[in-house]
Amino acid sequence: MKALVYHGPGQKAWESVPDPRMQAPTDAIVRIDTTTICGTDLHILKGDVPAVTDGRVLGHEGVGTITEIGTAVKGLKVGDRVIVSCITSCGSCSYCHQQLPSHCLDPEGTSGIGWIFGHLIDGTQAEFVRVPFADNSLHKLPGGVSDEAAIMLSDILPTGFEIGIRNGRVKPGDVIAVVGAGPVGLSVIMTANLYGPSRVIAIDLDENRLKLARTFGATDTVNSTPAARTSSSLGWHDQVMALTDGLGVDVAIEAVGIPQTFDMCTSLIRPGGSVANVGVHGKSVELKLQELWIKDVNISTGLVSATTTGMLLKLVAQGKLSPEKFVTHRFKLDQMMEAYDTFSRAAETHAMKVAISR
Ligand code: NAD
Ligand code: ZN
Repeated sequence: MKALVYHGPGQKAWESVPDPRMQAPTDAIVRIDTTTICGTDLHILKGDVPAVTDGRVLGHEGVGTITEIGTAVKGLKVGDRVIVSCITSCGSCSYCHQQLPSHCLDPEGTSGIGWIFGHLIDGTQAEFVRVPFADNSLHKLPGGVSDEAAIMLSDILPTGFEIGIRNGRVKPGDVIAVVGAGPVGLSVIMTANLYGPSRVIAIDLDENRLKLARTFGATDTVNSTPAARTSSSLGWHDQVMALTDGLGVDVAIEAVGIPQTFDMCTSLIRPGGSVANVGVHGKSVELKLQELWIKDVNISTGLVSATTTGMLLKLVAQGKLSPEKFVTHRFKLDQMMEAYDTFSRAAETHAMKVAISR
């Protein structure tokens, strides 16, 4: 088959590799119908994730059709259309039992991390993928849900909901601020409205992304570029505070992954509020605990467990969520290199998510 293979920092190729083979009775082989690219794949290509080694097929998001199924898989059969979850879970370890499969102790004997596709085992940017623990790691698709909607349920929509909205304890009436309006920030914004906030304020540097944020459910947008200040007499902080009762936001969600944006979140929070960090950080962040302790602020972190994929899928099937609108560009599998080029130049191409289909 053909697959997108990582060959060390800065090196990738769409090339022939052996077809995946069944290794355990709990496995399935899935023919990929649609896949996509995540910011994490770009991090891997920069060499930021050293656990990914030369020869690894990348990708942890996929929608496809089962072509082979192990004898121990009970709930699925050959021909089923499925979502491949970014998290692989054994279903029987202590973390799986406490609904935290992001730390599954044994997806393939790889110890303590549920994200293994395109990381520790071959991933979904390929014509076929082997899926371990298929019963727990695949979601059967009802008819009527498009590949382009379903692909957003592999990773970004559960991430925004679980790590942003649920960890941030969003309640009806809350004023929430989301820093970063990329695919993950927009997933936070889209799922925020399940909990009835009174205001959803999107903050970003990119005017195009802020415009898009309004179509995903943001009620207000604030451009935090220092230069944007000239068009308004207020800086970003004062603009956000003016959208609250003056005390700050109830929930601030970080969806970028740099010290500055985490700091922005803690500076906006009202006493008793919550800061939910979703961004993946590579550098240490200064925590101003001397200011925060007296404000009764709750701070949360997390790696997606994708335990809400089934719930989100029901909402998509009923037309209550329309995640297909993340797709800005479409490619065929053999245009994988062009898809990477377009996605990696998002500021120029205005790419949000690319759909790559067979
Ligand atoms: P992205 O890079 O596409 O989007 C980030 C957005 O932040 C961009 O729109 C950018 O313009 C904006 N931004 C950058 N600097 C800013 C600043 N100083 N002020 C305001 N906005 C700024 O990334 P994404 O794919 O949306 O992912 C967001 C983060 O979520 C990443 O760090 C990613 O690794 C992380 N992530 C976490 C999990 C998890 O389980 N916790 C899962 C998936 C992704
Ligand atoms: Zn487990």
